[in-house]
Amino acid sequence: MRVIKIVLPILHKRLQHLYVLSLLFFGGVCSSALHAEEEGDWYSGSAGIMGTNIYAEVWAQTPQRGQLALDTVFAEMHRINELMSPYIESSELSLINRQAGSEAVVISAEMFDLLRRAQWFSENTAGAFDITFASVGYLYDYRQKQRPNDRQIAQLRKAIDYRLIALDEEASSIRFLHPDVKIDLGGIAKGYAVDNAVSQLYALGFRHALVTAGGDTKLLGDRRGRDWIVGIRDPRNPDRQAVVLPLSHTAMSTSGDYERYFEEDGQRYHHILSPKTGESAKGVQSVSIISNSATNNDALSTAVFVLGVEHGLTLINQWPDIDAVIMDADRKMHYSNGLLQQQ
Ligand code: ADP
Ligand code: MG
Repeated sequence: MRVIKIVLPILHKRLQHLYVLSLLFFGGVCSSALHAEEEGDWYSGSAGIMGTNIYAEVWAQTPQRGQLALDTVFAEMHRINELMSPYIESSELSLINRQAGSEAVVISAEMFDLLRRAQWFSENTAGAFDITFASVGYLYDYRQKQRPNDRQIAQLRKAIDYRLIALDEEASSIRFLHPDVKIDLGGIAKGYAVDNAVSQLYALGFRHALVTAGGDTKLLGDRRGRDWIVGIRDPRNPDRQAVVLPLSHTAMSTSGDYERYFEEDGQRYHHILSPKTGESAKGVQSVSIISNSATNNDALSTAVFVLGVEHGLTLINQWPDIDAVIMDADRKMHYSNGLLQQQ
């Protein structure tokens, strides 16, 4: 396959332009600031958290600051994991799944806000993004090659519907309107954690960083005068990149049918489910979404995966600040209008 290079997103171009202007007008100030920034180094680290590989790279003035940055990123990932993992019994998400089917459960403001965002994505993706996919989704175990049978799917599919989640803002509570409803935030939590981690780095004074959690990446600033090179993996070959993009000041998430899956009788059972059928979505192998919010990218990459090429591109093309790169089931590449205009 060809390696395709796509030019910079609009946002980055605009920022670059501003940067050049500021150098022209405030040359003296900027050059001394730049000089001070010269002293420093890149620090990177990785860790296995949230069932995925977390990687961070940051420019810091001292080794202590480098360590602070990496500690900050990993601590945030752990915090979100403790809050939102379905595998941790004491997580807020587990509590909701245990109780909200029978009574309203009071939840933290943070959980409430993220649930509301998840609902927004359901409403605006024709239900393709739906955290109640888990009502059936929890019966899949990709490592053990287990999946629900047709009878189980037929029975539990009724419990896949985001409209069965009642959020009460006054009470900050959640209640499921059907006893079999379960929710899972695997399609949005990593992007959210990445956004949080990068915001925290910025607040601590860092200006150049890359944070990745599995398929969700965010870039703070540029790589000191050049772009970060972010790859989209070939879905059928872990050692090859299908597309390489030079990106800065933005974020990108990829959803692929290769992250968690097993094969049986020539069928691929993977972890992105169509809420309509309760079965793995077909039609595409990989979807990448580019915009400056990792949370939005994460949810939308999952949604577009479910929607497929045609409906997915129609959805993304209505938002000028969001772009998509899709590889369909025949390995043909498709791009949103924003990327095609720049090529
Ligand atoms: P990953 O980086 O883990 O591959 P993705 O962004 O591709 O994550 O999303 C896949 C995850 O999203 C699944 O593991 C599951 O937790 C969740 N998910 C699967 N189908 C849906 C859906 N239709 N709507 C919302 N979330 C989903
Ligand atoms: Mg996603």
